[in-house]
Amino acid sequence: MIRGSDGCGCCGCGCECMKRKRRYMPKIIVTDVPFDDKEEEKDSDEDEEDEEEERSGKQFEGRKHPGINILVTGTPGTGKSTLCQLVSDAVTKGGLLKKMEYLDLGKIVKEKGLHDGYNEEYDCYMLNADKVCDALEERMDEGGVILEAHSCDYFPERWFDLVVVLRTDNTILYDRLAARKYKKMKVEENVEAEIMQIVLDEVRNSYKSEITLVLPSDTLDQLESNCQRIIKWITDWVADHPENTA
Ligand code: ADP
Ligand code: MN
Repeated sequence: MIRGSDGCGCCGCGCECMKRKRRYMPKIIVTDVPFDDKEEEKDSDEDEEDEEEERSGKQFEGRKHPGINILVTGTPGTGKSTLCQLVSDAVTKGGLLKKMEYLDLGKIVKEKGLHDGYNEEYDCYMLNADKVCDALEERMDEGGVILEAHSCDYFPERWFDLVVVLRTDNTILYDRLAARKYKKMKVEENVEAEIMQIVLDEVRNSYKSEITLVLPSDTLDQLESNCQRIIKWITDWVADHPENTA
C-alpha cells in the first residue's frame, strides 16, 4: 500500500486514498446532483464486514506497550504538529506520564528513506507502508508516543489507545496551506480532501469509535481546548490504569 508524504509531517496530496475516494464518489464531485447510491451502499457494507473481520482478528490482539500511544491525524494544515508538540510538552513537563514523545511520521519517512521515491506530479514522497510499520514497530511497543501521521489505515490497530482526527474549515485550511507556499494544485487537492473527509473516513474504517476523538481545529482557542481535552483523557486513563504508569 502506498501513501504520499511531503516530509512536513503530512502527506502532500494525490495519495492513494485520494484516488480511491475519487473512484467512489465521482458523481458528487462532477455534477453535485444526488445519485442512486444503492450499489455503493451494498459495496461499502461488504467492505465494512471484511474490515470488521480483519480488525477483530490478529491485528487487534496483542497490545504490547506500557503507557499510552496516541495517533494524531488529519489533512495537512489542520494543526497536527502544533497540537502534538503542545500535548507532549504538557504531559512530560507536568509529570502526568514518564514518556509522551512526539514523532512526526513525515520527517521519519524522509530521514530513514521509508518511501519509494519522490512523485513529481503530486509533489510528495510515496510512502512505503511496510517499511514504515517495520521501522516503527519497536518504538511503538515501548509506548509513550504521540505520532503525527496523515494517512493511518496501514498501522496495526493495537498500537494506539487514542486516535485524534483534526478537522479544519476549508477557507481557513486554504489560507494555512497557501501560507506554506504549496503549489496551487497541492493546496486545492488538500482542501478538497478535507471537504470530502478522506482522513476521517479512513479513521472510521480503521479504528473503533470508542477510541476516536474528532476535534475542530480552526482557532487558537480550539487548539487550547483540544490540548486540554487530550490531557483530561490521559488523566482519566491513568486513574483507570494505576498499574500501568509508564
Ligand atoms: P499540520 O501538522 O497538520 O500540517 P501544523 O501544526 O503545521 O499543521 O499547523 C499549520 C498552521 O496552522 C501553523 O501555522 C499553525 O501555527 C497553525 N495552526 C495549527 N492549529 C491551529 C489552530 N487550532 N488555530 C489556528 N491556527 C492553527
Ligand atoms: Mn505537520
